[in-house]
Amino acid sequence: MSLIETEEISLDEIYQLALNVFSNHGCDADNANALARTVTNAERDGSLSHGLFRISGYLASLKSGKVKGDAQPIIEQNLDSVILINSHHFAALWPETEFLAERGLSGIACTVYKPAVAPAGASKAFFGTNPISFSWPRPNQTPLVFDMATSTLAMGDVQIAAREGHTVPHGTGLGPDGKPSDDPAEILKGVLLPFGGYKGSAISLMVELLAAGMTGESFSYEAEKTDNNDGGPPKGGELVLAINPELVAGKGWAEHSEDFLSHLKAIDGVRLPGERRHKNRLDKGTRQVNKDLLSKVRSFL
Ligand code: NDP
Repeated sequence: MSLIETEEISLDEIYQLALNVFSNHGCDADNANALARTVTNAERDGSLSHGLFRISGYLASLKSGKVKGDAQPIIEQNLDSVILINSHHFAALWPETEFLAERGLSGIACTVYKPAVAPAGASKAFFGTNPISFSWPRPNQTPLVFDMATSTLAMGDVQIAAREGHTVPHGTGLGPDGKPSDDPAEILKGVLLPFGGYKGSAISLMVELLAAGMTGESFSYEAEKTDNNDGGPPKGGELVLAINPELVAGKGWAEHSEDFLSHLKAIDGVRLPGERRHKNRLDKGTRQVNKDLLSKVRSFL
């Protein structure tokens, strides 16, 4: 097993580093700040596949001109309950659904990528890793939030495993020969598999239709055709649904749901999704970050 060298760094230093890097590569103050916050919050919560690790891809997209560092969102509202906002790529989805739940709404968000996952029965990539996130508001407590790729493992985690030289669980993907493999480098040349066989494949199919069919943005296979392959993420849409339980279920919804969650939590071995991140967040201290990764990010200054 390889020994990973780390460096101790504060969250403020991570934010400042990311902010300076994005500012030096053509982002205006608003966009540099939004990106640096996303990266820092991912490192803070231990969502490492969408923190500092993603910066080089974002810079590649700025350099190639696929994204504009001074772009400002255009917001259109044609129906009372539908808002259209122009977007580029979404990293992790929990920042959006958690934001809604902290304001008393249940959130559902999903997005597509480029083909990386074989639909059930196939050995050729067609779906993206197509994450989906759900949140539920919990008055006076951190919300319940899950956020997961519909592939067995997120692509970022396979890339990190390849970089750090360790194997991934069997069932994660197929090598270029179409055979199951636990070697992340082989899977990166081959294809990922959906979680849970045909059931995960159906959820991934739903994500394609909601995030692309419903928004008019690209399906994963279309994103692949139009992407300039600069190493950054492709352009894509995201569907975010916000539902107010107070309006639908009426008063008492919170007590009713809390009762359910307390029954669930009483079962031995159960923890609620989101708890790991929220626990990490309570630690305001330094983080141990992969030394090579930090050197790479600093080299962008
Ligand atoms: P994980 O498999 O690490 O976690 C998925 C969810 O399951 C999390 O909400 C996690 O909560 C929860 N969870 C994990 N273990 C348990 C457990 N024992 N009991 C209860 N809940 C548990 O996530 P993925 O690797 O699938 O995805 C990582 C990130 O990658 C996501 O944020 C996703 O949005 C992002 N992604 C983005 C893509 C894009 O194109 N934009 C593509 C694919 C993925 P907790 O966090 O508390 O551990």
